[in-house]
Parts: sequence; C-alpha cells; structure tokens
Amino acid sequence: MIHSDVSLENTLALHSLASHVVDIGSVGDAQDAIEFGQANDFELRCLGEGSNVILMPRVSGLICRVTQADVCILSSDEDTVTIAVGAGKNWHELVQETLDQNWFGLENLSLIPGSVGAAPVQNIGAYGVEIAEHLVSVDVVRADGALHKMSAADCEFGYRDSFFKRYGRANSGPLLILGVTLRLSKRPAVNLSYGDLRKAFGLGNMKRSVLPSPQQVADAVVTIRRGKLPDPAEYPNAGSFFKNPVLDPKTADRLHELGSKPYPFNDEFKVSAAQLIDLSGWKGRRQGDVGCWPQQPLVLINYGQATAQNVLDFANDIQRSVFEKFQVELELEPSVLS
Ligand SMILES: Cc1cc2nc3c(=O)[nH]c(=O)nc-3n(C[C@H](O)[C@H](O)[C@H](O)COP(=O)(O)OP(=O)(O)OC[C@H]3O[C@@H](n4cnc5c(N)ncnc54)[C@H](O)[C@@H]3O)c2cc1C
Repeated sequence: MIHSDVSLENTLALHSLASHVVDIGSVGDAQDAIEFGQANDFELRCLGEGSNVILMPRVSGLICRVTQADVCILSSDEDTVTIAVGAGKNWHELVQETLDQNWFGLENLSLIPGSVGAAPVQNIGAYGVEIAEHLVSVDVVRADGALHKMSAADCEFGYRDSFFKRYGRANSGPLLILGVTLRLSKRPAVNLSYGDLRKAFGLGNMKRSVLPSPQQVADAVVTIRRGKLPDPAEYPNAGSFFKNPVLDPKTADRLHELGSKPYPFNDEFKVSAAQLIDLSGWKGRRQGDVGCWPQQPLVLINYGQATAQNVLDFANDIQRSVFEKFQVELELEPSVLS
C-alpha cells in the first residue's frame, strides 16, 4: 500500500515529508513498487532508519522502506555459520543476537545506528573492521524487477563506499537491497588493531596471553562510542559528516608540514577529516542551530530547529575553510535525499 505525505524519521531530526512511501516485505512487494513507480513516473529511493541521510523538506518519488527482518541459518560447520538477514533488521540488534549465539566477527561494529540493508551501501566500518570482511552476498531487486544475488566482489567495496553508492549516483533509481548473507566465525578471534580498544584492555603495544572475549570487545566498543559520540536521541546528528580524505604521498607531505598527521592507507595516505576541521578552527563552533560537536568536530549537530539547508550551508562553510587552508576537498558522507 502506498502512503502519501509521510513524515520521515531521521537521526538529524530534520523535518521532511515524503510524497509517497511504501513498505516492502517481500520480492513481490518490491516488484509492485517498481511497477507503480514506472506507471506514475516516480523515481524510486530507499530509506532505512535515516541515520546517514540529509533529508530535504520535501522528498519526491517513491520512498521504499524494507521491513523484512528475519535471520536464518543457511549453512553451518565446525568453524563458521552463514546467515541470511533481512534488510529491515536493526544492525545493532543483529550484532547482539549473533554474539548471543556465539557467532563472532561483528563485535567491533556494535552500536552503529541503522538497518542491515543500508550497511553494504557505505560498507559500514568501525574499530578496524568493515562489513565487507564478513559479507558473502547481497540480494537486490533491479529496476526490471528481477531478484539478483550480488557477490562481495560485485559490491566493489571501498572505504565507506560501494557499487551501490556509485550506482545510485549514476542511475535514476537505486538497487533495492532486500537482504544480505554474512559468514561469521564460531571461533573467537578478536580484532584489537584499533588503539582505543587496545587501551581499553590495558594492552598498549604489548601482547597479552589471555585476550578479551568477543562479547567483552563489543561491550568496550559500546562504552568507547558512548563516551565519544553524541546520542542522536539527545543531540540529533548523522554520525561522521565527512569522509577521511585519501591523499597521494606529495599531498600527505604538504599536510604534514601544515600540522596534520596523515597515515599510510593501502598504497596511499589518509588524513583525519576531524583533524583538518579542528585545525581550521571549527571545533565546537556553531551557526544558529547547527554546530560541530565539541569533542568530535566531524559530527554536525542539529541543536534545535535547523533545516537541511542550514546543515548543508554549515557543511559547505567547513569545506571551504578546509580547502582554503589545506587545498583538500572534504567529501560528504551522508547522502542527500530531495
Ligand atoms: C551517531 C552515529 C554514529 C555512526 N557511526 C558510524 C560508524 O561508526 N561507521 C559507519 O560506517 N557509519 C556510521 N554511522 C552512519 C550510519 O549508521 C550507517 O551509514 C548506517 O548503515 C545507515 O543505516 P540506515 O538504515 O540509517 O540508512 P539510511 O540513512 O536510511 O540510508 C543510508 C543510505 O542507504 C540507502 N539505503 C538504505 N536502505 C537501503 C536498501 N534497503 N536498499 C538500498 N539502499 C538503501 C539510502 O538510500 C541511503 O543512500 C553513524 C551514524 C550515526 C548517527
């Protein structure tokens, strides 16, 4: 059933009304939505839990929200379990449920807001782990209504990037993700590569004979995140607003001289966008109801009644300042839906 003039939930607390919304619980629903969109010339757009989007006051087209949220075991052996998960499942709930079952691998991705269906879109990652490492395939419905299984290689995952993001930008509609298949380990092998996590367990640079359990790692990630990031329920935000720029060695050298600390990343370098924003004098700054979170300038907060345009203008001012100082372009992480 298609609903009209629906107010859209989002963690930035922006007021946004969608012209048409449909909830999708099956492949048949998805095919009906595509047919309806084509018949009425409505562009299809997907929305999960609204934690990585900037929603304009009116969103046109047909918004598709996948509600299918089942978790089922596809195969299991001594070492691994392969599960299929509906796109409508809440990500953090999934992480907790897998740990309850002693299925490991997602613990570092605890407390990332949003739905399972959106997770491959930006290849969610935190504390040294990305979903790409555990993803086997993604079930999508294409514009012609056909159900298609995309392998992890088809998804072309990159840093906060995937085929889905690029496809959405290049085509008039998205690929509708109905579910994902993940392979998890039955043997605990925790990833403590991230400095804050090592510190939480008193590891420093030393090795310890008894490592924390995956559940302990998940608990530590939750504690660290709660200490660092504002809770969107209290301070509406969309998480990191800009991606960390990837740099060539020459630019990395130049930025180093200007006081930032680029670090090696694959064959290139990456620099913390937060550091560039901080060095450009934006930490804790506020214009009207939009501001940079004082402890983490990468997070923009809606302190009251900010509009999407207010947020984008503020972001634009930051981008301009950073470019003037460093000649580096900051790219927005959330997508804009209008
Ligand atoms: C406080 C906070 C902390 C965060 N921390 C992290 C972090 O540590 N790491 C990280 O990677 N991200 C982080 N994020 C960003 C966000 O949590 C993730 O991007 C998440 O995957 C978004 O899920 P969502 O359901 O809210 O997606 P939405 O915001 O609703 O949508 C995001 C994008 O995915 C598309 N999409 C959604 N569902 C589907 C579908 N079924 N099919 C096709 N396309 C779809 C949308 O069109 C949109 O382009 C954070 C956000 C917040 C608010």
